[in-house]
Amino acid sequence: MSQYDVIVIGGGPAGYPAAIRAGQNKLKVACIDEWVNKDGSYAFGGTCLNAGCIPSKALLESSELVHRAQHEFAVHGIKVGDVSVDVATMQKRRAGIVKASTQGISSLFKAAGVTGLQGHGKLLKGNKVEFTGKDGKKEELTAKHVILASGSSPTELKSMPFDGKQIVDSWGALEFDTVPKRLCVVGAGVIGLELGSVWRRLGSEVVVLEALETFLPAADGAVSKEALKHFKKLGLDIRLGAKVSGADKSASGVKLKYTDAKGEQTLEVDKVVVAIGRRPFTKDLLGDGTGVQIDERGFIKVDHDCKTDAANVWAVGDVVRGPMLAHKGKEEGVMVADLIAGKIAEVNYKTIPSVIYTAPEIAWVGLTEEEVKKSGRGYKVGSFPFLASGRARAMEATAGFAKIVAATDDDEILGVHIIGPMAGELIAEAVLAMEYSASTEDLQRTIHAHPTLSEAVHEAALNADKIAIDFP
Ligand code: FAD
Repeated sequence: MSQYDVIVIGGGPAGYPAAIRAGQNKLKVACIDEWVNKDGSYAFGGTCLNAGCIPSKALLESSELVHRAQHEFAVHGIKVGDVSVDVATMQKRRAGIVKASTQGISSLFKAAGVTGLQGHGKLLKGNKVEFTGKDGKKEELTAKHVILASGSSPTELKSMPFDGKQIVDSWGALEFDTVPKRLCVVGAGVIGLELGSVWRRLGSEVVVLEALETFLPAADGAVSKEALKHFKKLGLDIRLGAKVSGADKSASGVKLKYTDAKGEQTLEVDKVVVAIGRRPFTKDLLGDGTGVQIDERGFIKVDHDCKTDAANVWAVGDVVRGPMLAHKGKEEGVMVADLIAGKIAEVNYKTIPSVIYTAPEIAWVGLTEEEVKKSGRGYKVGSFPFLASGRARAMEATAGFAKIVAATDDDEILGVHIIGPMAGELIAEAVLAMEYSASTEDLQRTIHAHPTLSEAVHEAALNADKIAIDFP
């Protein structure tokens, strides 16, 4: 029986960093992962590297280039003629990026002394783990600590199950080998908007059906309003308050049925991407009597430090409460590996940034203006439009703004909301500022290079006290 200090079940962005940090902490660690790609190959990296963050960003980048070549190059005086898209090459590039990223994990494991085990892991009573290898052979392992990082899986619509061809999940939508003429995306969340943007820019007619009446309710109100305007300009036909009730499939496509304020509607498309959310994945993860509890929504119950109800069993990432984001899982994994090694560690759940990698990009951290208003705390707002940024103008990327919400009593920054070029990069400054409980005055007094997009954050901080220089 192999004995470890730590066994991690799940090698996604929550599990593999936990294993690496445990190795860096000189603990004997194994990381078990069962991810199998469509070609039958095993790969570490979980959803994020194989079927999520990385492949979606690869295609977002390619499709954005197509869009810019078609709509923006001429303004720069660049003539390219007709732009055509070779989907096979685009997908080959996407697959290459994924492969390089997942293979990189094996090297990282080697450097940190982590034993990577490919196959299924199941927690048994008494901190034992049953490992089933690729060949089906079972082995019992023991560990002083077990970290569960089994992630999540896409939620299916009962009325319209995935068939992998006409009705697909987000993974399927990342691997289309041709551009669908008519595409329906069910769900106007982050994943739906990113995938809808990719295929729209590549030429699909895209209808997005969203059951909620409000667009992007998690974002600051001003940001969602601005975003909706730009998605419509891109040609995404976003229909809010549209509840899908079923679909009829035929060789020529899918006839979707949905209801909205006007009653029953139908929509004929070639393919449907269902992106209505993700569920915690715990299938065959827990044996009898482990003591690990699952809550009513299917998440593994953990405390603030990611401890489960079972002694020395921890859980991190999408399988526990909190936003389903790779960086949230990574920080939880690293925290747990440090806590196991007796170090001080904590995740600050108030400063987890959210990013939507569309064009314009959307990013935020902290509270929205609506949330601050509801809290009753006195607040001030500072905004700065990218239209007033010299760098944004030089980039032909003047859509959007940066907005800061801060407390009036002590000037603390409570939330930062950006829609515009490189918003996902710009938000890092706001995260750092909030991590150190910075005030708008701290940002106001920080020198930002000129001309950079980051000046928009600086000017928004100045604008919170109505002393912006480049904006009235
Ligand atoms: P996962 O990545 O799901 O990994 C869990 C791993 O555990 C998998 O490999 C699984 O096979 C394995 N596993 C499960 N059970 C067992 C078992 N019993 N034995 C062995 N192995 C097991 N997040 C971002 O932060 N930024 C983005 O840009 C972003 N884009 C996304 C785009 C798409 C299309 C999707 C679908 C998701 C995106 N996400 C993004 C979300 C992100 O992918 C997840 O939050 C992240 O992958 C969660 O990490 P995890 O390690 O908890 O779980």
